[in-house]
Amino acid sequence: NRRIVLNSRPHGAPRPDNFRMETSSLPVPADGQVLLRTVYLSLDPYMRGRMSDAASYAPPVELGEVMVGGTVCIVEQSQHSDFAPGDWVLANSGWQDYAVSGGQGLITLGQNLEHPSRSLGVLGMPGFTAYMGLLDIGRPQSGETVVVAAATGAVGSVVGQIAKLKGCRVVGVAGGPKKCKVGVEDFGLDMCLDHHAEDFSQQLADACPLGIDVYFESVGGKVFDAVLPLLNAKARIPICGLIAHYNDTEPPAGPDRLPMLMQTFLVRRIKAQGFIIFEDYGSRFGEFLENMTPWVSEGKVKILEDVVDGLERAPDAFIGLLEGDNFGKLTVRVGDE
Ligand code: NDP
Repeated sequence: NRRIVLNSRPHGAPRPDNFRMETSSLPVPADGQVLLRTVYLSLDPYMRGRMSDAASYAPPVELGEVMVGGTVCIVEQSQHSDFAPGDWVLANSGWQDYAVSGGQGLITLGQNLEHPSRSLGVLGMPGFTAYMGLLDIGRPQSGETVVVAAATGAVGSVVGQIAKLKGCRVVGVAGGPKKCKVGVEDFGLDMCLDHHAEDFSQQLADACPLGIDVYFESVGGKVFDAVLPLLNAKARIPICGLIAHYNDTEPPAGPDRLPMLMQTFLVRRIKAQGFIIFEDYGSRFGEFLENMTPWVSEGKVKILEDVVDGLERAPDAFIGLLEGDNFGKLTVRVGDE
């Protein structure tokens, strides 16, 4: 049984030596427990927060502890009446081959699961984040202009496609021409702009002649700087993430733009609301699945997955996620289906 533990806390961008691979004997489930074998591990930006001991909405991973992470697993052995060997489950068993669980928090996915990795992406936490953040906080109306950051990523790709289903004009922002092409051709965005371009701010202004009504914020940094002057009166900003800042080691250089930000919010009566998906919307996961599952099966919401093979590659893949190396929802195939 291999497991990847937190070896040291990163300062700035995580490095391979912040992680350590350990091996141990296979855990044995006691009465009331199941033995889970990991098939897919989800890699998500929030894990950067767990590597740090700064105060956050969830406690940090302790040094020497297995890295946290959502997983899709197969029940290998069961001493628990609710689970049978061969069952697929959605778990939070972290970066390891096997784990024992008492069943708390496990979600049963049935015996035959055609696309197990989807439960970590479009039909799981990221898809749910896109759905609730956009529809409950962003409240897009037909004909409005929606701008979505990280537009080909796990959350952003679903945000853009739902906004299109709601009849909006959608401008995506992504890193590089390849991602932007996929944003338009595969996800059906009206435009997709490369935030690395020198004249990105001007391109965004040109792409949004009627201003921005909803900005789905996942990034911060210069993307938000370009969005701010374009926000319309009564614009809504679901604040989902600020990935451009997760590796920051100090506050940004001045000038202090806080008064300008607050004045823009005031005079344009902008509503910005942060959310933590399961804390705020946990009870609505069923509603999300009821709507999203048919959208996916009917091809109205398309899927882009970036699957990396082998648990040992998880650290490098995670480091790359914070640099924009992933192309779509990033998962690790840890074991055979
Ligand atoms: P993605 O699949 O979108 O991958 C991350 C992407 O972020 C990268 O591919 C890259 O895309 C972009 N990125 C990375 N660094 C930068 C940077 N410095 N500047 C601009 N863009 C950057 O990840 P997710 O969809 O899983 O997550 C997206 C966001 O949503 C994150 O901020 C995450 O923390 C947040 N989130 C929040 C949740 C909540 O409950 N509030 C739940 C789930 C996610 P590109 O190359 O296109 O720039």
